[in-house]
Amino acid sequence: MSKLIYADNAATTQMDVAAFEAMKPFLINEYGNASQPYAFARKPKKALQDAREMIAACIGAAPEEIFFTSGGTESDNWAIKGSTLLNAHKYATVTSAFEHHAVLHSCKALEQRGYPVAYMRPSREGYITVEILKEYITSQTYLTSVMLANNEIGTVQPIKELCAVAHENGSFFHTDAVQAVGHIPVDVHDLGVDMLSASAHKFNGPKGAGFLYIRGGLKIMSYSDGGAQEFGLRAGTENVAGIVGMAVALKNNCDALEENTRYVARLESKLVSLLESSGIKYVRNGGTNRLPGLLSLSFPGADGEAILHRLDLTGICISTGSACNSKNTEVSHVLRAIKLNDNCAKGAIRISLGKNNTEEDVEAIFAALTKIFRV
Ligand code: PLP
Repeated sequence: MSKLIYADNAATTQMDVAAFEAMKPFLINEYGNASQPYAFARKPKKALQDAREMIAACIGAAPEEIFFTSGGTESDNWAIKGSTLLNAHKYATVTSAFEHHAVLHSCKALEQRGYPVAYMRPSREGYITVEILKEYITSQTYLTSVMLANNEIGTVQPIKELCAVAHENGSFFHTDAVQAVGHIPVDVHDLGVDMLSASAHKFNGPKGAGFLYIRGGLKIMSYSDGGAQEFGLRAGTENVAGIVGMAVALKNNCDALEENTRYVARLESKLVSLLESSGIKYVRNGGTNRLPGLLSLSFPGADGEAILHRLDLTGICISTGSACNSKNTEVSHVLRAIKLNDNCAKGAIRISLGKNNTEEDVEAIFAALTKIFRV
């Protein structure tokens, strides 16, 4: 059995050991319900408060602007439906055609209820520019939602500038920052966003935990009705261990952000220079302002699915598109949106390197690709 080489960090990440250790007490000994008034509930209650403060500090928010959720999908659903459906008047939403399905399908749900949605087409390099947004936004736009970093091609969007245009037009702004938080600097005030989605398992935290930043003063419908948790907006007993793990993982990633970025960028350049000198014919998708470590590569005329399975046989995990799409052999909506030709789109794979990868991993990935393309 070959050694596992995990190069699909945009799908999910390995848990930070310190985050796991921080979770343990809340699964075994400190299992009290944080909403109860007795002494045994004090530690979980305090842990939730501390986690909220830690997470808020990592993204420049106030603790009361952080709402715990079950992950990125829930945060996106809540932000988009919870803000727009608040209005009986059917105001419009503007989003991009290459968002994650958590955003796109939430927008479809709005459309089914009669709320219009416009889907902006990104540039061929994979960006929504200010000029593109200006073509779509109108005085009827209530919400603009553009992802901070694309999960398939890694392009980082000019959110600060887009947000300014949205606000000039009287629209609120949400960003799906699931791929960005914990990997590149994110400050909600600097960006100017009204809502921001994040997910713990993308930044070395546990699965099943995430958060939605909601700017103080912004009105949004409750996600679930019941108890008074999450300031009365998301009822349900809190996932204390998951939330604690999420906070520790995020803090650790943010504290080591520059170091991790440098390290992952070095691995990425190594892979690119190996490929460049190999004679393998490939195209790198997306412009140059990208997430560190994420490579969307097209091998013209090849079959991305077949490459994935060949690499899998040697113990290497990569992806052809977004993880949620892995059963779908259709060309991904992201590659379609950037108008990649079919020949390149069908031969596309995503390699996403993370802080736990090594130079040996990169060499093994390159060696396996060399075998596939027999150069
Ligand atoms: N948004 C983006 C950009 C993603 O990449 C993902 C996951 O792949 C999600 C949302 C959904 O996040 P979760 O898996 O936490 O539901």
